[in-house]
Amino acid sequence: MRKLASVQVIRDLLPIENADRIELAHIEGFQCVVPKGYHVGDKVIYIETDSICPKNETFAFLKGHSHIKLQKIRGVYSQGIALEYHGDAPVGTDMTKELGIVKYEPPEQPMDTIEAFPWYIPKTDEVRAQNIPELLTKYKGVPCYATEKLDGSSCTIYRNKGHIGVCTRKREVDNTSLMFRTAEKQGLLDFISNLDKDIAIQGEFVGPKQQGNHLHLPEHHIYVFSVYDITKQGYFDQDTMGLFLNFHNVDTVPLVNEFALTDNIDELVKMAIGNSTFGNFPREGIVIRPIEPIEGLQGFLGNRFSFKVINPEYQMKKGE
Ligand code: AMP
Ligand code: MN
Repeated sequence: MRKLASVQVIRDLLPIENADRIELAHIEGFQCVVPKGYHVGDKVIYIETDSICPKNETFAFLKGHSHIKLQKIRGVYSQGIALEYHGDAPVGTDMTKELGIVKYEPPEQPMDTIEAFPWYIPKTDEVRAQNIPELLTKYKGVPCYATEKLDGSSCTIYRNKGHIGVCTRKREVDNTSLMFRTAEKQGLLDFISNLDKDIAIQGEFVGPKQQGNHLHLPEHHIYVFSVYDITKQGYFDQDTMGLFLNFHNVDTVPLVNEFALTDNIDELVKMAIGNSTFGNFPREGIVIRPIEPIEGLQGFLGNRFSFKVINPEYQMKKGE
């Protein structure tokens, strides 16, 4: 689980042009506007964007705007909020539950669901680059690729012991649902039924009425970003996945860049800014993964890491 609220320290404080009362604090890989009076090294409770705060005394100053969003204040981006903290919990301590904070989930189009998401397939999710400064430094220089992050709904299509299923982020959907029919129409169900092994393909379902259809697509479509081998319990690496999907004519999320990983957040954010491959409008962001499996890395995602960098211009426009 991601920590939406945690004890952190202010790493740096910078003045903001023409502002007497506020400053820009650097906390983890994030930057956040705070009132003057803080010092470098002060502990704070840092609350990320995507948090929904409870409506109580602690958060009365939000005046009911309990969904923490990216803001632009005096021309600078402010990510999340910082609260004074005078306790002695160590840096990194999770405060999410204690403060009653929950994650904002964008509304999914209602669909008839039939089952829970299969427990043996990892759910799709991406951490933010700003949350993983140590990982970025550890793997600095590693050849990586970035794909365009599409703002739709997560879709997992799997085959297991003869059963074919289509799932949203949380549930398996009925065969009359739009997502199921889109997968069928695209030939994805035939594709996985004809294979000789049990796999799951995961992609983004986009099109009319999906999260505002920012790509302005006339029809629904699924763009794949991961392939998971259910029997071996591991993801395909980039090359294997590329060859496999290409061979079977499966559409993937567009490639944006190949580069050596940097731990400079500003550079990563710069890379995320730009227009979509689909047209003349800003992309949601990028998702970065290593090109080759990483020797010795054995995490939840197997021997790879994966994270997102959101385009702040897109996030502002969308109001999240
Ligand atoms: P978020 O939408 O902020 O919750 O970020 C994670 C989600 O991004 C994943 O669960 C996917 O559904 C979605 N996503 C969209 N485009 C991509 C991509 N190119 N690579 C990986 N995930 C993606
Ligand atoms: Mn999304």
